[in-house]
Amino acid sequence: MLKLERYRHFVDYFSKHQPNPVTELHYGNPFQLLIAVILSAQCTDKRINQVTPALFGKFTTPEELAASTSDEVFTYIRSVSYPNNKAKHLVGMAKMLVEQFNSEVPSDITDLQKLPGVGRKTANVIASVIFDLPAIAVDTHVFRVAGRIGLTTNARTPLAVEKQLTEYLPKQTLGIAHHWLILHGRYICLARSPKCEICPINWFCKYYERNNTEAALLKAEALKAKKAKEQQKKKKQLNTISKELNKRSVDKDI
Ligand code: SF4
Repeated sequence: MLKLERYRHFVDYFSKHQPNPVTELHYGNPFQLLIAVILSAQCTDKRINQVTPALFGKFTTPEELAASTSDEVFTYIRSVSYPNNKAKHLVGMAKMLVEQFNSEVPSDITDLQKLPGVGRKTANVIASVIFDLPAIAVDTHVFRVAGRIGLTTNARTPLAVEKQLTEYLPKQTLGIAHHWLILHGRYICLARSPKCEICPINWFCKYYERNNTEAALLKAEALKAKKAKEQQKKKKQLNTISKELNKRSVDKDI
């Protein structure tokens, strides 16, 4: 199947079955989403959603967070990954928002990346989710799933994946495709054991195609036959041993 066809099937399928996917992070405004996304690096959304209600309750504005200390913020986020660094980033980010961006979250990707704790991925999430801009954030799920499906080829860095997806996906689907890939990676196309047999898009997935070619099926059959033969051999050996033991016991009785 051609790459372009895979893209077409991908967009068709998810547009129909998941027309409005949203981030699983809880937030009420751009400032809160920015905090949640910074915290979510190398951590689960579930964990972040557990700590953010208290954090958002305590620091309701960039000014309040900017006036705090990383030690204080740490007490609210101690259960997330890398709490020390993230606490420093949050306070630094809030200070920069207040001092340079009039306490507003900027929409420009370059401006966003100036904020402490904000890399390209976080900037793209904010740009697409909050400002509806055509940007696609590449996290570990997007990286893996896009590669497996065959939407990307030989893309070794998140930026390379972002470039290929941006080149082929229709502009208006870039932001939404990020959620499609993340959710698919989180629930079906798992890192260690993808659920290919129940995957609704396996019919156009390159990974599935590669593992289910005639050669792969023949190999699996041969392996099955080999195992059956080995089991038969073991059974035969056990029978022989059992007969021998029976014979010895009879000889002893006589
Ligand atoms: S078929 Fe397997 S590898 Fe392909 S997208 Fe589905 S779960 Fe992932």
